[in-house]
Amino acid sequence: MSELKNICILGSTGTIGVNTLDVVSRHPDLYRVVALTANTNVEKLFQQCATFKPAFAAMYDDDSAEQLSSRLQQAGIETAVFSGMEGLQKLAAEPQVDYVMAAIVGAAGLLPTLAAAREGKRILLANKEALVMSGAIFMDEVKQNNATLLPIDSEHNAIFQCMPEQFSRGLENSGVNKILLTASGGPFRNKTPDELKQVTPEQAVAHPNWVMGQKISVDSATMMNKGLEVIEACWLFNTRPEMIQVVVHPESVIHSMVSYNDGSVLAQLGNPDMRTPIAHSLAWPHRIASGVEPLDIFKVAQLNFEEADFDRFPCLRLAYEALNMGGTATCILNAANEIAVDAFLNKQLAFNNIANVIESSLQHISIRDAVDIDTILNTDHESRLFAREQVKRLEFKQ
Ligand code: NAD
Ligand code: MG
Repeated sequence: MSELKNICILGSTGTIGVNTLDVVSRHPDLYRVVALTANTNVEKLFQQCATFKPAFAAMYDDDSAEQLSSRLQQAGIETAVFSGMEGLQKLAAEPQVDYVMAAIVGAAGLLPTLAAAREGKRILLANKEALVMSGAIFMDEVKQNNATLLPIDSEHNAIFQCMPEQFSRGLENSGVNKILLTASGGPFRNKTPDELKQVTPEQAVAHPNWVMGQKISVDSATMMNKGLEVIEACWLFNTRPEMIQVVVHPESVIHSMVSYNDGSVLAQLGNPDMRTPIAHSLAWPHRIASGVEPLDIFKVAQLNFEEADFDRFPCLRLAYEALNMGGTATCILNAANEIAVDAFLNKQLAFNNIANVIESSLQHISIRDAVDIDTILNTDHESRLFAREQVKRLEFKQ
């Protein structure tokens, strides 16, 4: 495993991006950063370029890209800067890139991640929304172009580590009878439905165990994150929703489990730190140090498990419903969720209305066969327009 691998990090300024740079910087003999990308955070991307001297950088926002370019020039750093969705796609597909960390949040990550799949890269997939939107199409591109898809989501990375080697032949043929997908339950695990109406964005983003970006933190609070993860698991492990059971496990020490027909249940444990799945996917099938503290099981002492409450967390129910509806339903679910979460973070929408925006989107937007990427992008667009209308209807009256 001595060959140096060239890495492109999509979303390098985010939580996953920064953790990836932390792991990569521990192994300069194994990994070289060749491309970094971000949305608008010029200062942070400039600092990262100054440290890692990548050949390429891209910013989605054109003005930000121009600012970055002139700052780099002034500092005498020879990173070539690109912009827009084309810029992101170009870097993900660059011939010299071996590994692509897909860590853009939301639908914006779909096309760049797909570009990496089309070029047969090793994709380290954090951007679960890409798979939720375009499941079958995305998995086909991975297969057809011999790309390698490795999950960064801690649960899916744990499941992958507990799976038999040939799981893609079908779980039942491999002796697997269930996937136990763990969930921390988020910051509102014990709140009553009435209390849930009053919670603020500040409370929602304060996750008890994990430090994450704002959107996924709100998704964890509504448990939509777990819903998106059930959909993600179906595609990654080629299985059906009935094979996946959500288990609330507040300590976040077991990151998921796989149950076999001989009675064995395999689990992956560790401190809740994303550098473990990142290091695993970078080095797979080998292992490298990640900087994560070893797990002290005596300090953990107790592990608890509860069933998920679909009534208090309707987003989880909606994700299963969308999965069963098939076609573009999960794309509608994802788009409506992004709009509703954004409105909640901007204090336009009450927490409990996030689920209402999603539910009415699933009821009113026509579900099509997910035949190609244009159908997905059109559905995403249409759903965003509809969800914005719903936000207006349910908006706080000041
Ligand atoms: P974040 O908000 O911290 O970072 C998001 C990154 O995406 C930033 O670099 C930002 O510049 C970039 N970005 C946002 N909008 C963009 C756009 N329109 N164009 C280009 N770039 C854009 O988010 P995060 O917590 O790092 O999460 C990233 C992804 O990883 C999400 O899909 C999330 O669900 C997934 N994930 C995160 C964690 C975690 O612990 N943070 C765990 C599992 C999965
Ligand atoms: Mg997760």
